[in-house]
Amino acid sequence: MRDFDFRRARSVAEAVGCLRDGSDSKLIAGGQSLLASMKLGLMAPERLVDLGGIAELREGRALGGGELWLGAMQTHGMLARDPLLRSTIPGLAALAGHIADEQVRGMGTIGGSMANADPAACWPAGLLALGAVLHTDRREIPIDDFLTGLFGTALEPDEILCGIRVRKPRRMVYRKFEQAASRFALVGVAVAELDDGAVRVALTGTSQGAVRLPAFEQALARRLSPDSLRGLAVDEALMSSDVHAPADYRAHLAAVMARRAVASISGE
Ligand SMILES: Cc1cc2nc3c(=O)[nH]c(=O)nc-3n(C[C@H](O)[C@H](O)[C@H](O)COP(=O)(O)OP(=O)(O)OC[C@H]3O[C@@H](n4cnc5c(N)ncnc54)[C@H](O)[C@@H]3O)c2cc1C
Repeated sequence: MRDFDFRRARSVAEAVGCLRDGSDSKLIAGGQSLLASMKLGLMAPERLVDLGGIAELREGRALGGGELWLGAMQTHGMLARDPLLRSTIPGLAALAGHIADEQVRGMGTIGGSMANADPAACWPAGLLALGAVLHTDRREIPIDDFLTGLFGTALEPDEILCGIRVRKPRRMVYRKFEQAASRFALVGVAVAELDDGAVRVALTGTSQGAVRLPAFEQALARRLSPDSLRGLAVDEALMSSDVHAPADYRAHLAAVMARRAVASISGE
């Protein structure tokens, strides 16, 4: 790995300043994706700007009106254990608890995962199903506009994701079929019935990052039952294909996981 400078920012403003001062800087959160890319030589920034010293990014809280604030630097492990998240959106706390292993959950952050937008990641599907809103140092971005494709987000190069606002749904669940070694999702499906009755279905494991499944949503809006999904398929052209699984297998699995997810929240 090439040598690099390291700066521990004390505020969001200081971190933004580092990204704008003309140096080749990259933010580091938990480092669980970034450091692997650097070790593989896929990335070689001159300076890492660490967000770990910014206390406000580690805070989560209730906002009132059934909404929660999840700080960008909250780790998967913190969120899996968080009593507030577990009681308000247990399906999201369970998603966090099934990411990777204890070590990755202790370091990896929700903000790093969303900024990275890995097509096999779990948070993008869970938060897409919930219709979350992402807050940066300068604006609010609805998740439907935030995720822009494979490893793609609406973040500008000098923009920092500060936290995520999410509303308590009537019910929500995430089910994934894990890649055995890493526990990344070969396929993961999140289903949420929101407080206004709308049903959202989001899929991870595709070639375009996390996406919604409109046909599945329409069928479940009529009746939230696994029977409503009979005959519905996921287009294999949508799915990733790699050494772990071909696209047709993933597409088949996606429909199976969707039925299992719906069965678990409908009790059928
Ligand atoms: C073995 C292994 C197994 C894993 N299994 C899973 C799994 O099952 N499910 C899953 O979802 N994920 C999994 N992951 C990924 C893990 O969740 C990472 O934590 C996550 O992808 C990146 O988070 P991070 O905090 O480590 O970010 P980093 O690696 O530090 O950063 C990732 C990228 O995001 C940018 N960034 C970070 N924070 C911000 C911010 N606040 N604002 C703007 N940009 C930012 C960085 O500049 C970088 O480009 C796994 C990782 C490993 C190593």
